[in-house]
Amino acid sequence: MLVVFAMALVCIAIGVGLAASAQAQTETTPSLDPAPSAGKEAGTPAGAAKQRSELDPAFGDQDPDGDGSVGDFEPNPDDRDRDRDRDRIDLDDAKAPSIRSSVNRKAFFDSDRPARLKFEFDYEDEEYFREHDIEAKVEVKRRKSGEVLERSTLKVNDSAQREVKWNGVEKGKLAKPGRYQFELTPLVDGDAVKMRNKRAPAPGGNFNFYTHQFPIDGNHDYGEKAARFGPRGGRKHLGHDVFAKCGTPLVAARGGKIQANQFQESAGFYVVIDGEETDEDYVYYHMKKRSKLKSGDKVKTGQVIGKVGDTGNAFGCHLHFERWTKPGWFEGGKAYDPLDSLKSWDKYS
Ligand SMILES: [Zn+2]
Repeated sequence: MLVVFAMALVCIAIGVGLAASAQAQTETTPSLDPAPSAGKEAGTPAGAAKQRSELDPAFGDQDPDGDGSVGDFEPNPDDRDRDRDRDRIDLDDAKAPSIRSSVNRKAFFDSDRPARLKFEFDYEDEEYFREHDIEAKVEVKRRKSGEVLERSTLKVNDSAQREVKWNGVEKGKLAKPGRYQFELTPLVDGDAVKMRNKRAPAPGGNFNFYTHQFPIDGNHDYGEKAARFGPRGGRKHLGHDVFAKCGTPLVAARGGKIQANQFQESAGFYVVIDGEETDEDYVYYHMKKRSKLKSGDKVKTGQVIGKVGDTGNAFGCHLHFERWTKPGWFEGGKAYDPLDSLKSWDKYS
């Protein structure tokens, strides 16, 4: 079995004649409506879930070229210190709670592994919560530039654990993959409080934000030349074949909506996902069985969508993976070589 697998014999599924369950994706600005996608009309871009947040409108499209650089906004460290001194008032120790906080180091867009800060405030005297107005100011910042992408303030009236998530979408624009930071500042009666232990790291922490996850959850290899995207035997191979044992879980490289879950002679059992916050489609062929997901279902990045198989015209268990540009799979978009993205997702997933 392994020999067959390693020989990297390939599928010849080329997608010809596949019946696309076409859903014209309307080009609307992604909504920040907190309502989840459930119940919306098919074809409506799912709104990005958004929690309590008050986004300062001054922090907006500071990255017009979308390359993650913030050009003219590189705060001088001295300026930042001055601002901080002005904002923060020296208070007696009793006003500083002890805070436990944690941040997951790897965060994925539209995923069960989102950017997430967990924290607990603790006062030796619990009465303090009742006698004062205690809040937590939480900011999400770009690590390099310090640019604040989101700011929210939570009321904290006991020592229970609290959680703040960041979904990576600000003003309808998906943040670039990169290094970000949660910063937490306790507020007592509206004033920022200095922590008791000045040498302790500030509450919060850094995390890496990713917009895709590698689609195979297990050992895999990229096959030989014939596995590659491009001309093959007089036809065009529209994806890349990644080999793995039959039964290895397949996960959504990018969350979104199930656009097709069907069987076709060449493709075998296959699934097409209309990506969340992108006009691209993601295609998975030769699944072991029909995916349990239904057309129109919402899936998250990293959610299991099925298993690696060899159904259809496939020699050896593998995932035939395609990426399609806007407006998508057999809807006028174009398939392009997904190998570079696969390898980059593979490094961190
Ligand atoms: Zn293939």
